[in-house]
Amino acid sequence: MEKTVAQKLEALKNLQSIDSELDEIKKVRGALPDEVADLEDEIAGFETRLQKFENEQSELEGNISDHKTQIKNSEALIKKYEEQQMNVRNNREYDAISKEMELQKLEIQISEKRIKEAYAKIEFKKGDIEKTTEELEERKKDLDNKRAELETLTQESEADEKKLLASREKAGKQIEERLLNSYQKLRDNARNGLAVVPVSRGACGGCFNVVPPQRQADIRDAKKLIVCEHCGRILAEVTDEIVTEEKKPRRSRKKATKA
Ligand SMILES: [Zn+2]
Repeated sequence: MEKTVAQKLEALKNLQSIDSELDEIKKVRGALPDEVADLEDEIAGFETRLQKFENEQSELEGNISDHKTQIKNSEALIKKYEEQQMNVRNNREYDAISKEMELQKLEIQISEKRIKEAYAKIEFKKGDIEKTTEELEERKKDLDNKRAELETLTQESEADEKKLLASREKAGKQIEERLLNSYQKLRDNARNGLAVVPVSRGACGGCFNVVPPQRQADIRDAKKLIVCEHCGRILAEVTDEIVTEEKKPRRSRKKATKA
């Protein structure tokens, strides 16, 4: 049986209100996954930086231990030279050994200087590591919170979403295919997802352009489907004036315009 225009409009409004609720769910959930991904990137960056600092620190520690070994070697050489000096045959040999000893003492001094420098650098690195670790921990805490938030939200909305999708299917069956297709096309093209809107204060609820009085009267008559001449959205009702008749449609209108 052919439905009246009023019935068609009622079915369209119903569908729009369900779709708007679904949009709302996706919108709320939509921001969090991005935030979680951003934090994950940031954390990866901090971890890379931390790893680099730690590598640099262990490299410096390696340098220190190398220099310490070198000092020990030099000291052993000096000891050996001291013994050799006891058994020299002439001054020339003695002087030559003295020169070698001086050289080793110089080596020791250089190593000691390098060790001191390395320790200073390590102190600096430790500061960097501490700061980076703190920031990393903070981000990790943020991430944990956001993840938990997202999970709760997804869990909560998953149930709602399921229910809404079921209602949507039912609501869609109340609308003839051709009309349903134009509705879907309108929704796809509208940034706010609104295909069915009321006329409020003389303006289209989708694009806010003025709807002429004659068109408003036609909408009230509900003899045929009226669309906005600016945006093409289906104008389902005129929400001003006549308060008594409005009570019911108003509720769905509120939901519909929220998104
Ligand atoms: Zn419009």
